[in-house]
Amino acid sequence: MEMPIPNAAVLARKDRVVARLLQVLPADAVISDVAETRAYECDALTAYKCAPMVAVLPASTQEVSDVLRICHEEGVPVVPRGSGTSLAGGALPTADCVILGVARMNDVIETDYANRIIRVQTGRTNLSVTGAVEEDGFFYAPDPSSQLACAIAGNIAMNSGGAHCLKYGVTTNNLMGVTLVQMDGTVVEIGGGYLDAGGLDLLGVICGSEGQLGVVTEATLRILHKPEGARPVLMGFDDNEVAGACVSDIIKAGVLPVAIEFMDRPCIEATEAFAGAGYPDCEALLIVEVEGSDAEIDDQLARIMEIARRHNPVELRESKSPEESARIWLGRKSAFGAMGQINDYMCLDGTIPVSSLPFVLRRIGEMSAEYGLRVGNVFHAGDGNMHPLILFDANKPGDLELCETFGAEVLKLCVEVGGCLTGEHGVGIEKRDLMHVQYTMDDLEAQMAVKDVFDPQWLLNPAKVFPLDASDARRRIEMAAQ
Ligand SMILES: Cc1cc2nc3c(=O)[nH]c(=O)nc-3n(C[C@H](O)[C@H](O)[C@H](O)COP(=O)(O)OP(=O)(O)OC[C@H]3O[C@@H](n4cnc5c(N)ncnc54)[C@H](O)[C@@H]3O)c2cc1C
Repeated sequence: MEMPIPNAAVLARKDRVVARLLQVLPADAVISDVAETRAYECDALTAYKCAPMVAVLPASTQEVSDVLRICHEEGVPVVPRGSGTSLAGGALPTADCVILGVARMNDVIETDYANRIIRVQTGRTNLSVTGAVEEDGFFYAPDPSSQLACAIAGNIAMNSGGAHCLKYGVTTNNLMGVTLVQMDGTVVEIGGGYLDAGGLDLLGVICGSEGQLGVVTEATLRILHKPEGARPVLMGFDDNEVAGACVSDIIKAGVLPVAIEFMDRPCIEATEAFAGAGYPDCEALLIVEVEGSDAEIDDQLARIMEIARRHNPVELRESKSPEESARIWLGRKSAFGAMGQINDYMCLDGTIPVSSLPFVLRRIGEMSAEYGLRVGNVFHAGDGNMHPLILFDANKPGDLELCETFGAEVLKLCVEVGGCLTGEHGVGIEKRDLMHVQYTMDDLEAQMAVKDVFDPQWLLNPAKVFPLDASDARRRIEMAAQ
């Protein structure tokens, strides 16, 4: 779906803005050629595309500050961008915006093992944070499946999670401080290398704010000692609901695995064809991993497998070696790529109470039949963070719209059972107009009032997160007041 092309007023302003940006950035950091700006026209929600007016690649907090100050003075919208892997269209440009990419800002600024912290520039990829400390026995816990590519910038903006967040929490639980550049160019420090900041919890407000409040250029992250050992067990079941009930029983029993991942038959078959991980022929499988010393692992796995046996598994395979563990994880880690090879798909992201898993999985199956669109489920089951992948044909007229209507129904179902519209992917453009399902207008007003404070002109990442009927009204009022 192509977004509007720039109008004459935008084109007239472009030359002036580019000239000013070139005064504060080197020439190769300002991308204004129309063909080259196409590289930034979408993120991983590729159904929506719109080339920006200009893209810039600053290399320091000072350069980010200079860019924002210029855009603020010119009244130009800015869309911050990490690696562009958002599945919610969070980094989608508008035709009149400057895309501000932090990819060149990827240095480690400081590692402090005594205090278990690392400070990085936020363009650094998630996996390379662990890469910087693993030889010394440490790791950074949040592990999105996209961790090879996604940046800490996007992780903070989306409050990203991953398979191992069941035990260690998501980004907000592992973030200690940020350097934030506000829309007018002001640089502020929030939090730091200590347990909790005095005053208001602004770090909690910034984490998950989807580029609405400022540009995060540096971050202090908590790093952890690598566990003594880890071991997954693979469980196969004849029924999705039974696998869901097993997850719920494990959580209820008070055992805390480091991860519980779920895959159903469409995903199992796609990943087997793609990666050949040796998964069983079954309707649903779980990967449950525990960590600790050998004795701790044996004890936890014995309890978990006892619970699994009560659900009549068709397979119960405990890893016996690091190679086998890697193979068990291989399929799960390739699932999104494998599904992408066989079909276009839309990846949903909603959260439900774990006890609702069997019911919600059944309803998704029923809806799949009603809409005539296949669904594959692969998700972080222990957290109740669901990722139904709705398969559709992008070349078939009307299929994307049908898929979006189906997706909206699934997300409404998540809210109905006491869950949330988003899990770890954020709202972006994808779920913007569904925010009314979860929040009253008063709730949304409270959230928009926070944006008013940080970004009174509503220039940062416009047309995301807040429903258009609410946010457009806000923008019009602001413009009339100028
Ligand atoms: C195959 C695949 C698997 C995925 N698996 C997971 C998963 O397991 N868990 C998960 O949580 N997500 C997952 N994602 C989604 C995505 O990777 C995450 O949302 C990630 O955090 C986005 O990071 P990014 O650097 O690519 O951000 P971008 O896509 O570039 O931007 C995301 C948002 O962050 C904002 N932003 C970017 N940089 C800044 C900045 N410096 N300051 C302020 N705001 C900024 C943008 O404006 C946008 O709103 C997956 C995506 C793919 C394609």
